[in-house]
Amino acid sequence: MQLIYNKIFLEHKAENHPESPARLLAFGDLEQSEIENGKKYLNLVYDDEYINLIKNASAKEMNLDEDTYTNSKSYEVACYAVGAAIKAAKQNDFALIRPPGHHATSNKAMGFCLFNSIAIACKWLNERGKRVLVVDIDGHHGNGTQDIFYKTDKILYLSIHQFPTYPGTGWVNEIGESKGKYYTINVPVQPYTSDDLFVDILSKIIPVIKNQYKPDIVAVSAGFDGHKDDPLLQLNLTVNSYYEVGKLLSANFNNIFACLEGGYNAEVLPHCVSAFLMGVNNEKAKLKFTEQRTTSAANVQREFEARKKSLRLSHDGFWVF
Ligand SMILES: [Zn+2]
Repeated sequence: MQLIYNKIFLEHKAENHPESPARLLAFGDLEQSEIENGKKYLNLVYDDEYINLIKNASAKEMNLDEDTYTNSKSYEVACYAVGAAIKAAKQNDFALIRPPGHHATSNKAMGFCLFNSIAIACKWLNERGKRVLVVDIDGHHGNGTQDIFYKTDKILYLSIHQFPTYPGTGWVNEIGESKGKYYTINVPVQPYTSDDLFVDILSKIIPVIKNQYKPDIVAVSAGFDGHKDDPLLQLNLTVNSYYEVGKLLSANFNNIFACLEGGYNAEVLPHCVSAFLMGVNNEKAKLKFTEQRTTSAANVQREFEARKKSLRLSHDGFWVF
């Protein structure tokens, strides 16, 4: 797994906003990849009305909600982000893109997200007969991706995220509907959850999904705002979690690609991404990746066990984890 990057992703910007080009500039002088404009893929998830809404908002540099800005370049940049996500899906690579996408539903831009790049890539794969597993490790719930795939059993959405926090969704009882029942799995964890619990629950769930669902490819919504130094959330993860999750995925699956979502501490973001890549690529951990934080608060541990039980009950024993 290698990074797919292009300087076009620096051109979506607003003053004093946490989702800024600084997040990618922190990676230094990255090699640029040739990326196609992903405009032609938008219809996999979006109708023309929504596409024009984003295009016009961008032309007028309008905000789509109180968090979600556009500038004159945003529409074009978001289209290239979709192109990079498709390229990543073809090559098992990591699309280092902005703006993020996992909060965007099929008809609503929100949470800094305009088009749901990973959802479009999943649909593209799905149309080629692939069963897809989405693993969303961003510290927020990917309500948009959940919403888009809520009624299908061909794309399984698994998310681990802080709860409660923005956007307010992602409780254990949101499990999918009709054909998609049981194909949405939400693991809401409390603020101050550390590496031990985060990695523990994923290492129980992932092998079960592998054996029972048998995905052809895994799409990782790779957000890193669960890091202990992130300004937007209160999780207590170190880079170790991202290394371990990468390792866990590569131990279980052959085809893995990823798209950058959140992660708002520009200083730590490159370390998180590099730890994740090293995990996926089965490289030996650098010393600093092995430091693991343990969840110390007894109430957080107790609540974790209670939620794990509720998660099992919500799924009526469909998944045995
Ligand atoms: Zn996030």
